[in-house]
Amino acid sequence: MANPNVDERGYIYGKFQTGPKTWTIMSRNAPQFVYLLIGDEKAALIDTFYGFGDLRQLVETITDKPVMVINTHGHFDHTGGNSFWPEAYMSEYATTEAKKAFGAEMEAMVQSHAYPDYECKVLNDGDVIELGNHTLEIIKIGAHNKGSIAILDKTERILYGGDEIEAGQVLIAAANIPTHLETMLKLKSFEDQFDFINSAHNGTHLTKDYIDDFIELDKRFIAGTAEKLDSTAGFGWADGPGGFNNAPQERYNYGRAHFIVFKSFG
Ligand SMILES: [Zn+2]
Repeated sequence: MANPNVDERGYIYGKFQTGPKTWTIMSRNAPQFVYLLIGDEKAALIDTFYGFGDLRQLVETITDKPVMVINTHGHFDHTGGNSFWPEAYMSEYATTEAKKAFGAEMEAMVQSHAYPDYECKVLNDGDVIELGNHTLEIIKIGAHNKGSIAILDKTERILYGGDEIEAGQVLIAAANIPTHLETMLKLKSFEDQFDFINSAHNGTHLTKDYIDDFIELDKRFIAGTAEKLDSTAGFGWADGPGGFNNAPQERYNYGRAHFIVFKSFG
């Protein structure tokens, strides 16, 4: 088998083991991570990048178990590689946007995969997924995107928070910050069941008290007292059509928590 970790501008995926039954896979085209959780009967893959490079081939160098693809939400940088598999699991809302590629080039790339018309299957709040001596629970959340779910790995005591909590910055609409506070409080209510947080972008294996910094940032933003930083650190995009170019983007910070706040985003 050709080395699936090697790029030809199809990008490298590095892989490294981060728990007895957990692997982290890292993309080169963006600072992003997906996770492979292995049980006795099957494995779960949390998110699939944009779909550049054969993620399935790489996953199959780690495990020969059947793989259940789970998306933290429907943004295409998390769902593009679903099309290497015949089905993927996600929230009901995520099924409405998971196949919306970020432009024609990515759409053409997906069409070259084995399953561009893969089946979307729905996960609900409280669902328990048994991989075989490795148990996951679905927690419905959603403020960065209303289709978000967190995945609680009850066996390895890890929380997968998708784009709702991360080390770089959470991209969010100003109007959704009260919902982000609810999301953080909901995740905090599970904190005796996990030891750290694995996020989708910009760093991984975060201490769980990042949640406390985000709770404080949420509260300060709502109260109008959050610290606004002079620099958006690369997110000062020009205004234009589409949710991702919706100026103004402003950067707010408390402790280790950062928001890039949009007029609208989701
Ligand atoms: Zn996202």
